[in-house]
Amino acid sequence: MSYVDEVIEQVVAQNPAEPEFHQAVKEVLESLRPVVEANEERYRREALLERIVNPERQLKFRVPWVDDKGQVRVNTGYRVQFNSAIGPYKGGLRLHPSVNLGIIKFLGFEQIFKNSLTGLPIGGGKGGSDFDPKGKSDREVMAFCQSFMTELCKYIGADTDVPAGDIGTGAREIGYLFGQYKRIKGLYEGVLTGKGLTYGGSLVRTEATGYGLLYLTKEMLACNGIDIAGKTIAISGAGNVAIYAAQKAEQMGAKVVTVSDSTGWVYDPDGIDVAALKEIKEVKRARLTEYKNYRPNSEYHEGRGVWSVKCDIALPCATQNELLLEDAKQLVANGCLAVAEGANMPTTMDATEYLQANKVLFAPGKAANAGGVATSALEMSQNSERLSWTFQEVDAKLQDIMVNIFHNLDDAAKRYGFEGNYVVGANIAGFEKVAEAMLAQGVV
Ligand code: NDP
Repeated sequence: MSYVDEVIEQVVAQNPAEPEFHQAVKEVLESLRPVVEANEERYRREALLERIVNPERQLKFRVPWVDDKGQVRVNTGYRVQFNSAIGPYKGGLRLHPSVNLGIIKFLGFEQIFKNSLTGLPIGGGKGGSDFDPKGKSDREVMAFCQSFMTELCKYIGADTDVPAGDIGTGAREIGYLFGQYKRIKGLYEGVLTGKGLTYGGSLVRTEATGYGLLYLTKEMLACNGIDIAGKTIAISGAGNVAIYAAQKAEQMGAKVVTVSDSTGWVYDPDGIDVAALKEIKEVKRARLTEYKNYRPNSEYHEGRGVWSVKCDIALPCATQNELLLEDAKQLVANGCLAVAEGANMPTTMDATEYLQANKVLFAPGKAANAGGVATSALEMSQNSERLSWTFQEVDAKLQDIMVNIFHNLDDAAKRYGFEGNYVVGANIAGFEKVAEAMLAQGVV
């Protein structure tokens, strides 16, 4: 049996009931086959793959807090410190009822390669909890965040592990987490990113993932002779990534016609009104049903359906496994030219393969959504320097990083004879740097 197959088998056997983690490991290791085969003897002797699929450390802890009725509630907190070969662990905290260890491990594993692709010195980690901030009062969210940080603060620090936001963890949550860290540790340091601008946050961090997604998509299209201006775009999600992806797409002259949330989706033939979307989601924290009040020409549909709309470009920006094989078939039938993942692993493996087989340009999330973590790393640099850069400075660096990421993965794909396969390119380009660093650091 090949080394890759052996390790995939071990991961499935040793991590039962973690299907998302198995999926992420399979996707990455399958595409690393050519690199692994070229170095099989050394990698086997060094157990490189066994080491890379095993987190350096995984923490699971109790998070007790008191709700507004005086009832004590208990959630589970996680932090998976996956790989520190190229820098301190870095990755977001997800607060969503679906969170379990397998989800955090899949995200942490992906984060290793994403962070490597940015070219910045950051290792891979991820964390979160099954706590649902939806429907909770600010005081309840604060109580949860303080309890979560009371435990987490023992294991993180500006030079060891720097968490950030993710689904359910926005500016409010980061503020409460930072406040509690500072209080317990007595340290004012850049231990979290995505902070408010008055206490060490970076300009552009809020917009970074969505903007970065569009910078990379534009470059990928341009290198394939396609101009993004005038194209119709379908976006899923209506959160941080989706909102700023829509904003940048419109600034680039494209028309975004859909957004969605966990209950339904909106089709706006005149182009999504980003200001209205921001008010509904960021200010009112309301459902997308409200959108029709702002744009009477739009349609609201319950359930899923974003990918049934005719579009040139599809940008899944909600969550994992939200673009299925049947959706891929629909996109291809509708003449879709490109799919770029704003979310982490939103496209199932069979859907990805179908899109690629049908010549749809496909940019995987670990490259396409790396703008968020890249800008987080820029926030860390500013914190260490005790300086704040202007919006233009950070935005220019973000653009450079995204364009470089695209060329790195494009080059890696070509080097191994997989021209145009950006999934293989991203995994190889991300892996090479981490592998070299791990081998150089000995058996640790
Ligand atoms: P948000 O919480 O801001 O938004 C998530 C959006 O997706 C919401 O509209 C939410 O709907 C929808 N959604 C969540 N879960 C589901 C589900 N099970 N089915 C359908 N819709 C769902 O998160 P972000 O925008 O920050 O993150 C979106 C994705 O991007 C995630 O995969 C995240 O890991 C990834 N990502 C985020 C980065 C960042 O900087 N924020 C960086 C890199 C990746 P509702 O409001 O109804 O819950």
